[in-house]
Amino acid sequence: MSSDKKTAQVVDEVEVALIGAGIMSATLGAMLRELEPSWTQMVFERLDGPALESSSPWNNAGTGHSALCELNYTPEKNGRIDVSKAMNINEKFQISRQFWSHQLNNGILTDPRAFINQVPHVSFAQGSIQVDYLKRRFDALKDNHMFPNMQFSDDDATFQENLPLMSEGRDFNAQKVAISWTDAGTDVNFGALAKQFFTAAKAAGTEIRYGHEVVDIKRDGSKWRVTAKNLHTGDYEAVHAKFVFVGAGGYALDLLRKAGVREVSGFAGFPVSGLWLRSKNPELVEQHNAKVYGKAAVGAPPMSVPHLDTRVIDGEKGLLFGPYGGWSPKFLKKGSYLDLFKSIRPDNLTSYLGVAAQEFGLTKYLVSEVLKDFDKRVETLKEYVPNADPNDWETVVAGQRVQVIKPAGAPQFGSLEFGTTLINNPEGNIAGLLGASPGASITPAVMVELLERCFGERMIQWGDKIQEMIPSYGVKLSKDKKLYNEMWEYTQKTLQLEQN
Ligand SMILES: Cc1cc2nc3c(=O)[nH]c(=O)nc-3n(C[C@H](O)[C@H](O)[C@H](O)COP(=O)(O)OP(=O)(O)OC[C@H]3O[C@@H](n4cnc5c(N)ncnc54)[C@H](O)[C@@H]3O)c2cc1C
Repeated sequence: MSSDKKTAQVVDEVEVALIGAGIMSATLGAMLRELEPSWTQMVFERLDGPALESSSPWNNAGTGHSALCELNYTPEKNGRIDVSKAMNINEKFQISRQFWSHQLNNGILTDPRAFINQVPHVSFAQGSIQVDYLKRRFDALKDNHMFPNMQFSDDDATFQENLPLMSEGRDFNAQKVAISWTDAGTDVNFGALAKQFFTAAKAAGTEIRYGHEVVDIKRDGSKWRVTAKNLHTGDYEAVHAKFVFVGAGGYALDLLRKAGVREVSGFAGFPVSGLWLRSKNPELVEQHNAKVYGKAAVGAPPMSVPHLDTRVIDGEKGLLFGPYGGWSPKFLKKGSYLDLFKSIRPDNLTSYLGVAAQEFGLTKYLVSEVLKDFDKRVETLKEYVPNADPNDWETVVAGQRVQVIKPAGAPQFGSLEFGTTLINNPEGNIAGLLGASPGASITPAVMVELLERCFGERMIQWGDKIQEMIPSYGVKLSKDKKLYNEMWEYTQKTLQLEQN
């Protein structure tokens, strides 16, 4: 053991090092374990348990994002509703459902009810402009087999029947409202899912080093030297790994830079924090069974779309409303106030400056959100729950998101991205994920892309196994209704959603 990161001795040699014990590392570890059971894996996590950052159930909204209700995935362009993004996300979520089903059949995942529950997904429109948009969105999706059982209504009685909590005290004469909905939606506890994966990984021989922060990644011949600090003893130790996955959430960018991965040159991170209002009052919880997504406020980033969610966590139902935007320079919820400052480098300074100049609307939105006190937050909640009583609700700090600022050539200086960006080096022996949205829901699809990019030469050899994990692999379900229906039935049954 060494008390200096430079002199830390190499104490272990592994095939795969996974940095971070969130849902991303959990998923990749499970895939590689099945594809190459003999490969040794080691997980490093700076906190003292799995899934304590963004993947923790109260740090994210737990929406199984499949674009059934999220209006930002169906933007209006030149008077037409563009459904391409919605189709893409839905397609990726079907991969998640298949992968999780396979892992249940395999005995890696053990309890579907602990991580996935069927909860109706509802889109909510207020005012005639939004109602008109929602009707056209519904028309664009209703006959598409990937959006089953979609319904639309601008009838007040139907609204009341479906959303009693949102109806009580609502003046239906003051503002027109409409909803579209489907029972096919899900609430996912990504924390419970990650834990089930890590329990199986440990049983299969993966060593998980909690309380270990990776402080450096350097090339050492054909391997990577991964240096970690034991946060409990202060000791440093190093491990040689053939392949490194940086699943470190908000800290991924910094670690990829440390490893000298050129593909992140010029990239920067923009932290956006958030707050929820949460209620566990059984009377309220009883009156609401849906994830209800509305339209984002003008200038608000897409992930700040307000929604009122039924959550199912540890077998208990609760309600979550938000997120309210916030700002903190930290890159992880349990990170440091110096994170943003430390991430500014000569190569990404222009990216930061460009975004600062271009994103005035976002800045204005964040400032207004930060200035909201509890009473103001309850006022916003009242658009959804008109009779909301402040005593029923408490503030909860959400997970931290680090939005990606991508470098752009002159005359532009960089652009803020709201998606997830997969980074890997040309040799394919290190990869990492930047960004947060749509995030956890599409993890298996992102990890398959990682396999294709980093282990391309093995994909033929792995083909049959991958097909077992994801039976529709290589087929566009949007173009194959029969296969979609088969996969839907298989996953509904295996994930035990039809019993919900
Ligand atoms: C407010 C909010 C709402 C969201 N809502 C949804 C939603 O409804 N649906 C959805 O699908 N997704 C949602 N997401 C996104 C989703 O939560 C994330 O995409 C996902 O959890 C990311 O998983 P991860 O494993 O990459 O990161 P994390 O879960 O953050 O895990 C990263 C881990 O790496 C560890 N780590 C960091 N640096 C180091 C280091 N140097 N050494 C060792 N360990 C390190 C951290 O401690 C952490 O445990 C939401 C996110 C937020 C913030």
